[in-house]
Amino acid sequence: MDHMSLDELLKRYDVDLSTLPAAPANPADHEVRTRITTKPLQPCAVCGQDSATVRVLITDHGPRWLDLCWDHGWTVAEPSPQMPTTTEGILADLREVITELAAKTGTKASLKLWTDKAGWQDEHHG
Ligand SMILES: [Zn+2]
Repeated sequence: MDHMSLDELLKRYDVDLSTLPAAPANPADHEVRTRITTKPLQPCAVCGQDSATVRVLITDHGPRWLDLCWDHGWTVAEPSPQMPTTTEGILADLREVITELAAKTGTKASLKLWTDKAGWQDEHHG
């Protein structure tokens, strides 16, 4: 599928913003994570398949969740300013998620990492 802007996607598939589920204007990371991991998964606003991504749209009807499947999510994916672009940033995000998961599930998680700089590293969380 060709890349297109979010507006183009919404127009092309005639997504009715007023039918999207109401969302908090500034959802916390954990709210977003909960929404994309809780089963049954939310249906993609475009095709109805299980969603894999979610974002909040500020519409005339207020903030709304826009759930998208992988295909439709990638179609409109753009590098976000908050997205970590350095290896350190990505690893920091990964560690945060793993620590949170380990705490939530009461399990121990270990992470095996290899980087050009540091080689193999074993990390244990929880
Ligand atoms: Zn879809």
